[in-house]
Amino acid sequence: MLRKYFFPDVMYNSVQDIDVEDLKKHGIDFVILDIDNTLVPYTSPVPDEKALSFLNSLTQNEIKFCFVSNNKLKRVELFNKQIGTYAISNGAKPLLTGIKRAMRAMGAKRENTALIGDQVFTDVCGGKRAGLYTILVNPIQECESRFFRFKRHYEKKIIKKYNSCRGRVNND
Ligand SMILES: [Mg+2]
Repeated sequence: MLRKYFFPDVMYNSVQDIDVEDLKKHGIDFVILDIDNTLVPYTSPVPDEKALSFLNSLTQNEIKFCFVSNNKLKRVELFNKQIGTYAISNGAKPLLTGIKRAMRAMGAKRENTALIGDQVFTDVCGGKRAGLYTILVNPIQECESRFFRFKRHYEKKIIKKYNSCRGRVNND
């Protein structure tokens, strides 16, 4: 249950650590991207240089991408203004509605799509439920609100478990 829904396929410190060329080589043509704390901090209304260069590397490797954010329309629209790609707000992750809409919009299939996000209970869980290759990154900024701290507490437990399972696999 833990493994099926909450374990990412792979984990990185940040999106900048993802080997995009390798992703493409492994058959990924489409990427569903979380925005907040994955590409930029909550407080950045528009993409910064780091985010733009990551998005560029996707495009250079002929990987199409779509933003699927649980945040509001206004936030997502402003963030996507300069980029002008597919973007879905109120994505309701971990439900499949937003993810499926994104995949339909791009013409993506389960087998050639990856999902990248910073949260276990929304991003990873949504990606795994949709049957996608799921990449977890560390949140750019630790969130201060009590609810987020509560969620992080459990996320950290799951990540620890994930790492210990992976360690076992690697040692086999
Ligand atoms: Mg996020």
